[in-house]
This record gives sequence, structure tokens and C-alpha cells, in this order.
Amino acid sequence: MNAQIPEPAILEVNNLKTYFFLERVTVRAVNGVSFALPRKSTLGLVGESGCGKSITAMSIMRLYQEPPGKIVDGQIFLRTGEGQAVDIATLDPKGQEMRHIRGGEIAMVFQEPMTSLNPLYTVGRQIAESVEIHQKLGRKEAMGRALEMLDKVQISAPRQRLNEFPHQLSGGMRQRVMIALALSCNPAILIADEPTTALDVTVQAQILDLMRQLQADFDSSILLITHNLGVVSQLADHVAVMYLGKIVEYAEVRELFHHALHPYTMGLLNSVPVFGKKSGQVLVPIKGMVPPATTQVTGCAFAPRCPYVMPICLEQEPPLREIAPGHTAACHLY
Ligand code: SF4
Repeated sequence: MNAQIPEPAILEVNNLKTYFFLERVTVRAVNGVSFALPRKSTLGLVGESGCGKSITAMSIMRLYQEPPGKIVDGQIFLRTGEGQAVDIATLDPKGQEMRHIRGGEIAMVFQEPMTSLNPLYTVGRQIAESVEIHQKLGRKEAMGRALEMLDKVQISAPRQRLNEFPHQLSGGMRQRVMIALALSCNPAILIADEPTTALDVTVQAQILDLMRQLQADFDSSILLITHNLGVVSQLADHVAVMYLGKIVEYAEVRELFHHALHPYTMGLLNSVPVFGKKSGQVLVPIKGMVPPATTQVTGCAFAPRCPYVMPICLEQEPPLREIAPGHTAACHLY
């Protein structure tokens, strides 16, 4: 028999709970999230702002402020190299192992590059420094690698950019520099948090094209965090939809776009223009807002906004169940 054993996912998040203990309230920002990121694939983590997707990313990087934040439950298994799993949730956020993982194994691209690029150093120096630390290269070789990376992200006049400071670059160029910086140490995983949101539409399309191409070149796995379903439709292989700190639906990207099951996902799809949808799509916003993550919920968290709400929804929390092969949803309708 020639049965293929599926390769274990490079990142596996199990029942992750990240809470923030404030003076009077507890913010349950991430409240029992599980997903797997297969190797060389892209998982889109989608939801409105305040649903917990960025804190999920910050938990994986151990970059949230601790205290008041704390991972109170769950595991974050990272499997690189020989397949040995490390549980990131148990590591010291300031320790050497976590510092090695951050940047070397998992790199992050943020929405606003100016928050992560140092305005006082040239672009070349910033990339080279990261390469020196993580790859143990000398100054000259590291600078060579910085030039190579700027070339790879197709920035114009890369040699000149090496000596420029972030403020001398346009928004699109800065995002290219961030991607070059993130990929310079050949990380196994790239977490991209709203990588195109701050850019205008033409530049967004260029950055998405670039990310698609670089993923193929670098064989990386990408966790793409966004509220923009158009971005997801163009980059992701699978999609996890988050609502109030939990995943409410998970499916392969085409399946999700054509057969969304959860009323929240349907609402998201109906409220934004989605690439590939036929013209004449009528946009209907989801009523209400995501409640604060301090809300104590009984039953389904989406009930106050759901057009299909039933009595059971107000009493019992719907579990995440497989409704079709590879397609899970947390909803009493199924
Ligand atoms: Fe709507 Fe009920 Fe499904 Fe929640 S469980 S999404 S309230 S139908």
C-alpha cells in the first residue's frame, strides 16, 4: 500500500486563550482558538477589528504586553527543521529561544511599516543587522544579502535604497522594505498583519502580487491577518473566520467563498465588494458592532446581530463542527 502520511502542520494552535487582566475587567481577546498552518500554504485569518485576530498573531510572536496580557491556556506548536515541536506558549517572551524564533523562524509584516522600521537607521543597515544576528554573517556579507533582498522585493534602484532612511521612501516602498526585512533570514513562517491596508489600491495589488511570488520563491507558510476578504481571495489557500475571540468558520478558500455556512461569514461576504463576484453585487452591512471582548456571553456571541437567531442560540454556545469535509462552522443552523 502506498498511503501518504500527511505532513504535520508547521504551526498548530490549540485552544489558545490570551486574556488581558485590567483593573476592573478581563478582556478575553483570544478565547479558545485552534487552527493549523500547513507547510508552504497561506491561511487567512479574517474578521472585523476587535475580533482578536491581531492578538492571535501577537500571541504567536509573544509580542503582546505581558502583564496585563497572559496566555492562560492552550498551546502554540512550532515545527521547523527536524520536525521537533516547540510550544511557544511556554517560552519566556524575553528569552533567547523566543528571540531566535522571532525573526529567524517566524517573521512579521505589519500594516504600518513606520512602526517597525527604525527611522534613525538606513534601510540597508536595518536589514543587514537582522541578518547578522540571525544568520551569523559578517557585516559585508549581510549588506550583500540586504541588497539581494531589496532586489527580490523589486524595489526600484535597490543599491540607492540601501543608504536611504525610511522617511525618504513612499508607503509602498516601505512595505517592500518590511517584506525584505521579514524574509531576509529565510523564516519558515511569515505573519502578515493587514499588509496592504495602509496602501492605495494600485500599490495594494502590487504588494499582493509580490507576496504571492515570494511565497513560491521562498517556500514559506503565511498567516495572513486581514479584515479584507478581497485580499484573502487572492492570497489564501484556507480561511479561518474569527468572531469575538473565537473561530466560527474554517474552510478551503473557494469553498468558503461559494458555500459560506456561518451567518457572520455570509454577512462579511455580503458587506464588501469581493473580487470575482458578479457585477451588480448588492452590499448589505452587518447590523451592529462586534461587542467588546469584556462581554460575558451566554449562547452564540453573534446572536444580537444574526438574522437567523433562534431560541437555542441565546442559551447554548454552538460548538465548532465539521459540516462538510474540511469545512467547519459553529452555528446551531447545522
Ligand atoms: Fe445565528 Fe444562531 Fe448560528 Fe449564532 S448559532 S450564528 S445566532 S443561527
